[in-house]
Amino acid sequence: MQERKQKLQNGLLLPAIGFGTWLLSEGEEVRKAVIEAIDAGYRLIDTAAQYGNEKGIGKAVGESGLDRKDVLITTKLAAETKGYEETLRAFEASLKRLDTNYVDLYLIHSPVPWGARGDGMEYMEANIASWRAMEDLYRERRIRAIGVSNFEPVHLDALLAEADIAPMVNQIEINPFHEPKETIAYCQAKDIVIQAYSPLAQGRVFSARHLEELATEKGRTIAQVVLRWHYQKGFLPVPKSKNAERIKENIGIFDFELDAKEMKRIG
Ligand code: NAP
Repeated sequence: MQERKQKLQNGLLLPAIGFGTWLLSEGEEVRKAVIEAIDAGYRLIDTAAQYGNEKGIGKAVGESGLDRKDVLITTKLAAETKGYEETLRAFEASLKRLDTNYVDLYLIHSPVPWGARGDGMEYMEANIASWRAMEDLYRERRIRAIGVSNFEPVHLDALLAEADIAPMVNQIEINPFHEPKETIAYCQAKDIVIQAYSPLAQGRVFSARHLEELATEKGRTIAQVVLRWHYQKGFLPVPKSKNAERIKENIGIFDFELDAKEMKRIG
């Protein structure tokens, strides 16, 4: 069974599963994990300026033996960094740390700074200024696709009203305990591809009895049935692991299927 890639509005194909790197420390830890991930077959690495590990990721991609064009790198503009010039500067700093001359997917990490209260609509003007910078970088071919993260319909409406180029991706939290239906439906209607972060609920899926039962019936692991659920729903999960065996396990989801009843049992 072949992995089905997801086509963005501009034709760029994204792998159905990516490798998450939040909480992997800069240096050896992240470098080793990303090398393991690439060896296991992952072709999209998800990082962010705020993860503080872009240097190790750049090193791993450089050492992987693959052409740069064959490994996609996502990084994100920090939630606290907003504005046109601020975004250009932050992008250059990420590129330098990643030791590359382009980024495949660049996302606004969050419409609001971490910890801000309310819907954060007061930040939309600053987000739109960031978006203008991202559009310019995209036109200059220094970014292959641009998108957002943690955007809800209210933020997407405001952005779409001003954008020349619509966001191609929205990376949001999705897992069997958390499926934000309104945002998902909105993105699907506007052809915005959904990437699922914390796809394993940061480890909480492993103590769910109903998932354990299904995994046993399928002769699979809990991680595999949950990641297969994401895949069949059309979400692109980016699971993180620092362990070589689990990194391999998590991408082993393309040789079995869940039927409609099994899908319902998961979430
Ligand atoms: P996650 O991928 O849902 O879960 C990671 C946890 O599950 C880790 O504790 C990991 O432990 C464990 N794990 C992974 N595979 C396993 C397996 N097969 N068996 C048992 N345990 C397993 O959580 P996440 O890191 O929050 O989310 C994934 C990625 O999404 C992040 O790394 C990041 O790239 C992205 N993200 C983005 C945002 C955003 O705002 N855009 C927010 C959060 C996360 P070990 O490492 O010990 O295996």
